[in-house]
Amino acid sequence: MKSKIKKRIFQGLPASKGVIIGKVKKFDLKSLRIERKQAKSKREELSKFDKAKRRIIKELESVLEHFRGSYRKIIESEILIINDPVIEDEVKKEIEKGYTAEFAFIESMRRFLSKMEESESTLFRERAREINHLVRKVLEVLQGKPSLIDVGEGTVIVSDDISPIDVFSLSKVNDVGIVIEYGGPTSHSVIVAKSLKVPMVCAARGILENVKDGTEIIIDGWSGKIIINPSDETKKEYERKPILYGDAIEKIIKGPRRGKGKERKRVSIMGNAAGLEEIEEIVKYKGFGVGLFRTELLMWDPAIWHNEDTLAEVFEKGSKMVFPDPLIVRLIDIAGEPTIPGFEEKNPFLGLRGIRFLLFEKEIMKMMYRAILKASNLGNIRILLPMVTTLKEVEEAKSILEKAKKELTREDVPFDNYIPVGMMIETPASALMIKEFTSAVDFFSIGTNDLTQYTLAVDRSHPILAPLYSEFHPSVLNLIHHVVKGAHPYRKKVAVCGEMASDPLGAIILMGLGIDELSVHPDAIKLLYGLFQWLEYKKVKEFARKTLEMPDAKTVKEKTIEFIKKNIPPLAVFYE
Ligand code: PEP
Ligand code: MG
Repeated sequence: MKSKIKKRIFQGLPASKGVIIGKVKKFDLKSLRIERKQAKSKREELSKFDKAKRRIIKELESVLEHFRGSYRKIIESEILIINDPVIEDEVKKEIEKGYTAEFAFIESMRRFLSKMEESESTLFRERAREINHLVRKVLEVLQGKPSLIDVGEGTVIVSDDISPIDVFSLSKVNDVGIVIEYGGPTSHSVIVAKSLKVPMVCAARGILENVKDGTEIIIDGWSGKIIINPSDETKKEYERKPILYGDAIEKIIKGPRRGKGKERKRVSIMGNAAGLEEIEEIVKYKGFGVGLFRTELLMWDPAIWHNEDTLAEVFEKGSKMVFPDPLIVRLIDIAGEPTIPGFEEKNPFLGLRGIRFLLFEKEIMKMMYRAILKASNLGNIRILLPMVTTLKEVEEAKSILEKAKKELTREDVPFDNYIPVGMMIETPASALMIKEFTSAVDFFSIGTNDLTQYTLAVDRSHPILAPLYSEFHPSVLNLIHHVVKGAHPYRKKVAVCGEMASDPLGAIILMGLGIDELSVHPDAIKLLYGLFQWLEYKKVKEFARKTLEMPDAKTVKEKTIEFIKKNIPPLAVFYE
């Protein structure tokens, strides 16, 4: 029989490290088609929905104990939604109209989801995808589809998307891997896959059409490569890869100290966190404090968010954990939707986000300042302003900080009066106007995730345009260099806290462009410490300058790999 397989090698985006050689199990969630169908018996549909609901709650509760912090909140919010009496009422009303349980459920969730998906905040949209997962899960159960929990060893799940909870369920099975067509390296699923060490490749567009259940497949979470129906020779080659990769990392970490004395530029390696659990990891890997404490996930816990003192407690704990190293708290970077009912934006990424939202909702901003100030007595907390485009925004933000300080003084609450204030550089506007900002802030932190999307005009979570989105585009590199050149004469440090800093290729270029601090995923800290031991600053600087003149992102990446092969030979195995 003629094989229908058209393409054998796919290049996705590397998401979670590791190699798996296994058999495909497709979870093509798009196949869950729901028709507007009349049911035979209302009673049967009601009981079907009830049973599905109970089963899902049981399943979610059984995984709940294994999650902490932000992931736990995701599961808790799923349980809350499925248990929500308003949603349940709506489902029942639809069933009473004569529709099937599936249709009734979809209808009631539709409005709820579309509100979240339109949000300008990546985190909200990611969260909507996770709730989408809940919808799909309920539908799977209602339609009697197989569950992810039933997969065996040596399976590679190929799906359009996957939820963090499913990633967790899969991690219980040995030797499993995940390939998804959508989703970028910033999604929660990827973060969970990384922490549970489940190899994963994302943004592998078209993969579903090219595999069937049982197809042999290799996925390489380091390079993002996927090989369908590999030859015996290729299989042997990939069987050796985990050992090669492991050895390489050991060699890099123990590497020679080449860049000594004046040759050596000190780049501090800090960690990114969204909760106290990640701060624990950063401390474990000996990172130089927290370069970016994202506060958006705290928002999902009303107990924390609506209570200034509980928020302050979180910051205070974080500050103690990293002391004397810094804890850089970023003010919340979200859309207006939660507080502005009925307000919808056509271009959410170009709308009321970051500092714009905070200046629109000044009370929220002041409350955050108060919480941060209350926690600042050890003197190691710094404030970071998100998504700035104009100097006026910084000035206004600082005047609100002054108000918060005055209030606390009146209330006799002690705080660090000299708390440093920095700003994110996430737009070409702020990067190009860097000099204007030098007198207004104490430090800069470049958010390459957003800077790339605004420079290249590519939505950072766009599934189809993912190949166009690259931090290695020389336009982005030139903006970064412009920031360093503008800030250093005024003795202002420049950090990078976007994903680019966690990527060895990105980290090398950033070091060469003169970046002072890299704030990275906690699990990248050790590798980067090792990596920098191999490099002479002079050489890296010379190389990084050349990238500014290169024609495109592809050339920059290729040339950086060549540079690595010459200067850090053990790292080369990841790029063969
Ligand atoms: C960035 O834009 O690079 C960044 C670090 O911020 P976030 O990913 O939270 O938007
Ligand atoms: Mg950003």
